Amino acid sequence: MSKFDNQYLCPLCDHIGLLETNSMVCEKCGFEDCFVAKHINEGTRKYWMKKEESLTNWRYDKKFTNQMKNATPGDAQLVKCFIKSVKELFGLFVENKNNLDDYFPKYVRDYKRTTGRRETGWKEKGSKFVLKQKQSSLRGVIYEGAISKFCESHDFFEPIRVPIPYYDKEKDLHTDYEPDFWFNFDGKQIPIEFKTFGKQNMVKSKFKKGIKQSRHYGHLSTFNGNNPEKLSGMIVCCPDDRKFSCAIIDDRAKRL
Ligand SMILES: [Zn+2]
Repeated sequence: MSKFDNQYLCPLCDHIGLLETNSMVCEKCGFEDCFVAKHINEGTRKYWMKKEESLTNWRYDKKFTNQMKNATPGDAQLVKCFIKSVKELFGLFVENKNNLDDYFPKYVRDYKRTTGRRETGWKEKGSKFVLKQKQSSLRGVIYEGAISKFCESHDFFEPIRVPIPYYDKEKDLHTDYEPDFWFNFDGKQIPIEFKTFGKQNMVKSKFKKGIKQSRHYGHLSTFNGNNPEKLSGMIVCCPDDRKFSCAIIDDRAKRL
């Protein structure tokens, strides 16, 4: 067991601390549901940092936006602002290409070990969420971590740090609702999903899962935010191919 295996990650303040038995409370900010931390192998982190330093700049690829056209709401101002804002986020990769060490996360959540640790204190229903949650690749979590940091300084984007609890019709509590970011525009708050894809894999047939997830969050977002049309957004990117795309979608996306 390495020295990195016995730590927790506070999703609220990013603090990394030593795991104590039966406690997932952050010693710095008091948040009670911390995650077991998984240390990202330095080689993997450096691999992606090198890519960002040496490969060509990111470019916006219209394909996905166009594919979603028939499911995109008519609010042209919103759509225009969203696309512009996503371009700005990826512009920050270029701007910071030589200091990504500050943006690519060193630790991510270890969902599997977190479930184990929480088993004693958590209701069975609650513990299911951790397994269901994003089983994305290391590449995905590294890039999502960087984009989250970029969101912090953006006027319209806001990172979401912890799951948002909600009750269903049967009054059961769920904790599996955690979009990646909010897009705040004109009083609306729209949940956004961020997905990365492997080389030459940013293609239509691979979007299905992300779209489903994004639509699920669009529906849930009406519980606590201002999003009457249940809109949701997606940002897709392929670090190897240096391209990204995005769309704001509504329920018509399910038919595409
Ligand atoms: Zn904390």
